[in-house]
Amino acid sequence: MAGEPQADCLFCKIVAGIIPATVVQETETTFAFRDINPQAPMHVLVIPRVHYPDAGSLAAAEPTIAADVLSVAAQIAADEKVDDYGYRIVFNTGTGAGQTVFHAHAHVLGGRGLEWPPG
Ligand code: AMP
Ligand code: ZN
Repeated sequence: MAGEPQADCLFCKIVAGIIPATVVQETETTFAFRDINPQAPMHVLVIPRVHYPDAGSLAAAEPTIAADVLSVAAQIAADEKVDDYGYRIVFNTGTGAGQTVFHAHAHVLGGRGLEWPPG
C-alpha cells in the first residue's frame, strides 16, 4: 500500500530504529536526524515517517505531511540558529540531481555561505 514501510529502504529502517541515527526532532508525521556526511556545519535530514520515493510523490499523495516536512525544516533552522544568516532546504529528485536514497527527504543546510546557483 502507498506509504507503507519498505524492507529495503535505509530511511524506513532509521524511522523504525533498526539503523541508528543522531535524532534532532521527532513529530507524529516526521523524523529529523543529522546527515552522516554533512555538507555544511548544520546539515539535518527531515523525512516523513511514511515511505514515498521523492518529495513530489509525497506532496501528491500526502500534502499535509509534505507541509509538515517543510515546517519542521524551518523550525530546525531556527532552533539551530542558522535562520538569521540564511539556510537552504533541498529536495534532490532523481539520480541526475544527486538523489541516492529513494525515501523523500529534505536536506536542511546552514552555518556557512551557500553559493547560488548550486553545482
Ligand atoms: P540524497 O543524496 O539527496 O538522496 O541524500 C541522502 C543523504 O543521506 C546523503 O546526504 C547521505 O549522506 C545521507 N545518509 C546516508 N546514510 C545515512 C545514515 N545512515 N545516517 C544519516 N544520513 C545518511
Ligand atoms: Zn522508506
